Amino acid sequence: MIKDKIGRRLTDLRISLTDQCNLRCTYCMPKEIFGPNYPFLKRSEWLHFDELDALVEAFLCLGVKKIRLTGGEPLLRPGIVNFVERLKNHHNLEEITLTTNALRLAKEVHALKDAGLSRVTVSLDALDPRILGEMNGRGISPEIVLKAIEAALSVGLKIKVNMVVQKGVNEGEILPMARYFKGLGVPLRFIEYMDVGNHNRWEIAQVFSANEILKKIQTEFEVEPIDLSSSAEVSKRYRYKNHTSEFGLITSVTQPFCGGCTRARITADGKLYTCLFASTGLDLKKILRSEKYDNTTLLSVLSKHWGLRDDRYSELRAVNKSAQEKVEMSYIGG
Ligand code: SAM
Ligand code: SF4
Ligand code: SF4
Repeated sequence: MIKDKIGRRLTDLRISLTDQCNLRCTYCMPKEIFGPNYPFLKRSEWLHFDELDALVEAFLCLGVKKIRLTGGEPLLRPGIVNFVERLKNHHNLEEITLTTNALRLAKEVHALKDAGLSRVTVSLDALDPRILGEMNGRGISPEIVLKAIEAALSVGLKIKVNMVVQKGVNEGEILPMARYFKGLGVPLRFIEYMDVGNHNRWEIAQVFSANEILKKIQTEFEVEPIDLSSSAEVSKRYRYKNHTSEFGLITSVTQPFCGGCTRARITADGKLYTCLFASTGLDLKKILRSEKYDNTTLLSVLSKHWGLRDDRYSELRAVNKSAQEKVEMSYIGG
């Protein structure tokens, strides 16, 4: 297992399977920018699944134990179920998970479960159809997502739900969402709105902080923390008192956790990023397709690259005013 300069292990690999999406969430892919003329990757630019297999094997040697499939919308990538099965059967992984907007999830739950998916994280920002429709940029109402969650639960897939909270937009949905998912026994994770990419016009004033979220929840529920000391947890977990349900707070903006950031990210066209806010990535496709490619070279390049890593964008956010372009969230996958 390798550690970077400031002692960060590498345990998680996020693989984006496509940068395309069937939604246009205002905070991620605003439709004014991500329209018909946006230069999405062509299919021919995607890494092939056998190339991804080779990368996964190398990352396993470096300490990775968990893989998350993401996007764009990962369920738009043909062959994803077979890829989950390959990951399950060919590699010794602790967890294979998927983050999805769930528009295409319901019809895949059986196949994904049988293929060996450990868990699915569904993104849902509101139960109110008007608020959700505006946030997802396509007027999609919550029913389709809630039905997919039910379908996943019915086949025994473990689920978490992610809700991005934006001040003045959906903070009024915190309590309805908390009530609903407490009742369902599904962990809900409230995510502080982040300044990802270059187009969501993020301002700190639009961040509804984790402390504010917690206070709002406490107006209705008694809650208690669950092991806030665990460095393995990016989310600060809480339990509703006298209940088995829990929720989490992802405090990326107000209480950054760069020191505990153990994730590497690969884009659909094979760029390796060591931070969600980086400008450039290492071109792994070039390495995989070069004549001199072999496993040892790949391992040594990856190990050296992670070893040189000193990313801590979120910790420096308040002082770093540089206007450097950042990678887009839909391309790197969150
Ligand atoms: N399309 C899939 C989905 O939405 O679940 C997977 C990719 S999406 C980029 C991954 C996660 O990033 C989602 O849970 C989404 O809510 C989150 N996300 C996107 N933009 C964000 C932002 N500006 N701040 C915080 N979270 C964001
Ligand atoms: Fe698509 Fe997910 Fe981004 Fe929404 S958050 S636009 S669903 S990639
Ligand atoms: Fe990791 Fe970069 Fe986020 Fe810090 S800002 S937690 S280094 S991805």
